[in-house]
Amino acid sequence: MKKLTPMMKQYFDIKQNYKDCILFFRLGDFYEMFFDDAIIASRVLEITLTSRECGLDEKAPMCGVPYHSSSSYISTLVQNGYKVAICEQTEDAQKSKGLVKREVVRVITPGTIMEDVTLNNNDSNYLMSIFSDGISVGISYVDISIGDIFCTSVQNSTLKEEISKIKPKEIIYNCESLKFDLQVVCNQNNIFLNNNSSEFFCGKNDIMYKYFDRSYLENLNILNNLSIKSSLLGLLEYIYSTQKQITSNINNINYYNSSDFMFLDTFTRKNLELTETIRNKEKKGSLIYVLDKTNTAMGARLLKKYISEPLINKDSIEYRLNLLDELVNEYSLREDLDIELKHVYDIERLCGKIAFGNINPKEMINLKKSIDRIRNIKTIISKYNSINLKTLSSQLDDLSDLYDIIDKSILDDPSANLKDGNIIKESYNDEISQLRNLSRNAINIIKEIESKERIRTGIKSLKIGFNKVFGYYIEITHSNLKQLDIPDYYIRKQTLSNAERFITLELKEIEEKILNADERIKDLEYQLFVDIRNKLYKNINRIQSVAKIIAQIDVFNSLSKVAYENNYCKPQINTLGNLEIIDGRHPVIEKLIKEENFVPNDTIINKDDCNVCIITGPNMAGKSTYMRQVALISLLAHIGSFVPATKANICIMDRIFTRVGASDDLSQGQSTFMVEMDEVSYILKNATKNSLVILDEVGRGTSTYDGISLAWSIVEYIHDNIGCKTLFATHYHELTALENELKRVKNYCVAVEEQGKDIVFLRKIIEGGADKSYGIHVAKLADLPEEIIERANEILIKLEKKESRDINNSMYEVALCKEETENMYKQLDLSHINTMQLIKEISSLDIANMTPIQALNVLYKLNNKAKSMEMI
Ligand code: ADP
Ligand code: MG
Repeated sequence: MKKLTPMMKQYFDIKQNYKDCILFFRLGDFYEMFFDDAIIASRVLEITLTSRECGLDEKAPMCGVPYHSSSSYISTLVQNGYKVAICEQTEDAQKSKGLVKREVVRVITPGTIMEDVTLNNNDSNYLMSIFSDGISVGISYVDISIGDIFCTSVQNSTLKEEISKIKPKEIIYNCESLKFDLQVVCNQNNIFLNNNSSEFFCGKNDIMYKYFDRSYLENLNILNNLSIKSSLLGLLEYIYSTQKQITSNINNINYYNSSDFMFLDTFTRKNLELTETIRNKEKKGSLIYVLDKTNTAMGARLLKKYISEPLINKDSIEYRLNLLDELVNEYSLREDLDIELKHVYDIERLCGKIAFGNINPKEMINLKKSIDRIRNIKTIISKYNSINLKTLSSQLDDLSDLYDIIDKSILDDPSANLKDGNIIKESYNDEISQLRNLSRNAINIIKEIESKERIRTGIKSLKIGFNKVFGYYIEITHSNLKQLDIPDYYIRKQTLSNAERFITLELKEIEEKILNADERIKDLEYQLFVDIRNKLYKNINRIQSVAKIIAQIDVFNSLSKVAYENNYCKPQINTLGNLEIIDGRHPVIEKLIKEENFVPNDTIINKDDCNVCIITGPNMAGKSTYMRQVALISLLAHIGSFVPATKANICIMDRIFTRVGASDDLSQGQSTFMVEMDEVSYILKNATKNSLVILDEVGRGTSTYDGISLAWSIVEYIHDNIGCKTLFATHYHELTALENELKRVKNYCVAVEEQGKDIVFLRKIIEGGADKSYGIHVAKLADLPEEIIERANEILIKLEKKESRDINNSMYEVALCKEETENMYKQLDLSHINTMQLIKEISSLDIANMTPIQALNVLYKLNNKAKSMEMI
């Protein structure tokens, strides 16, 4: 039987434990992949598939990537949903006898990747762990390149929403029954669901003590919550299993309660285009595109967190608003802060690199430069009168000791690679300075020895040369040699035809120093660098706290800049349920179409007088824009930001819902209308009287009458049973009749001006309902061929006539039935008179000038009258 080669056997032994990973097997300067891994990787990475003898009949499929450029290949694989196990040679190949030892040193997955090429500075790269005990679900998540762990517990029913809020890159979970639901959310949000992760939830506490102090854990009440604790254990076990080391940047567990924040469901987040547009998934055109004027990566990430977690506590919101208020008009303070913040590097992630031991010397200098800027920031803020900001910045540790450590030791412009030397300042270490001197002066030193020997021997032609076999040597011609009493410290090395070569101990010593100096310098610099890194490692938590404060200062600076530049106002916050916005604008659209072209609009939803606004108006009038503007202004206020309006008083809202009718969601395999109804049903079940609900053209996805009827009854239900603030846009102008039926419903419409056959959009929201849909007008604006427009107008006129004829017919039927009644009661004068009156009433109706709803109302009255006559 054929046998595997020893190396291939080693490969299989290792691969055995990493079946679900692509194994990068280190062979010299390459990482090689074999068998199925090679087939997959060669396809995904578009590299050549070759093969290699493995001892069996068939060669092993193989492909490889160079070690030094591996990180981009790793990133590509991980981004394509593969896990990569890095298997290194763990002993020096030259010193080992037989097969070199190899070991997996790290497993890289979407949630644990730290390669710079993959990480987006402005995004967190969360790994999430979910533990369900069947009733409640514990969630923990962390960006290991940063370190803060967050955890909470949620109901099964809100798990999906929490996931789509956090948008982790990878999820591990304990429970098979979650798999189906999780897979759906993960597909929607492009999350890697790690299906082989239940083994990590074994529930041992030891791992916890490896990462955290006992005293820290003892004070952590959340550990009494078993599902949270289990999710934490799973998270830590998994991190350890992939990183194979404990790192000090993971040193903090933050518990939060998801009900401390405004609840935004997945649809709403998408529809409001908070961080990306619906259509192109681009940042441009989203809310963050307008809001994000941060200068640091930490600030950018924190701002995203603020947007995804609007506050619902009045005091916390007001703290932020007051802080902004201090900053908005301090133009030069903002300018100064901008300059400094621009030069602060991503120190949060630099901490991660220190922790994982992969910070390079250049990055260390970046940390030093950042510390310098942070000191400036502190000084700048101290000169201004902003109390809240001052309090914040006074908590900044100025990290002078760490600055000094780096400043004393690391060159200002060191190499990026820590094995290349050129890292440490000469003044930091005597040996380094000697070694550098030595290699710099190598030639001089040799020359010195040469002249010394010349004097000593009196031979002027004595020279020192170098060759690879003997190194440095002293060469003396035979003729000179004859006269010389050869010194006893000369060691004869080589005889040539005309000369003799010697070495001396002194020369060998220098030679060794010179030859090894480079190597020695590199080693020593590396050692010293590691020592310095270790000093910083012990202080990671201090740097992390500074990073957090800087992130806040950056966010506040950004929000105040946006507020100032775009004329936002400070909203008042109330808990009375009243919403009042004067001259509100849509923060994004106004930027896209230029502020001066945007028509501002008011919104007043007072919980006693009105909570449902029906907004009618033709397509393109600005209904959707208006409603989103109300939602976004409310949201901005809850983030603690100023808002695009001249005045705003915003009530605390527990949730904002939006639903836009008839948008396709084919990826879920449901019909458009089904999706629409599903979402409406979700809203109706979850909205409370403190919620804001935006319904945009709901009911559009089905036939007109179905649509109107559904829309009608949905509004009734909201009005009677929920009482949430509701904006309902519709081009079914028939719905305006609801205003008469329901007490707290009010009609608004977007004003348009008819100019002959054309319409002009005024974009102004006014009281009252629209009476037409203006569909053909809009089509005309869209430049449909004139022919089509004319023909459509013709058809419309016919249809309108037909509609009134239908009503005529029903009236005729009503009348007919009344004729019979007349026969029955013709003896009875009274009834005869009544009947005649009725006929008169019917015949005088001006049906051509009635809307269908008016006609229905009349019919209803007539029908009642007839019924009452029947009774007589
Ligand atoms: P509707 O929902 O009524 O069909 P939209 O809200 O989609 O209309 O608005 C259509 C377009 O009109 C928007 O893309 C925007 O360019 C413009 N628009 C909307 N509201 C305003 C406004 N208040 N001021 C200026 N332009 C507006
Ligand atoms: Mg619309």
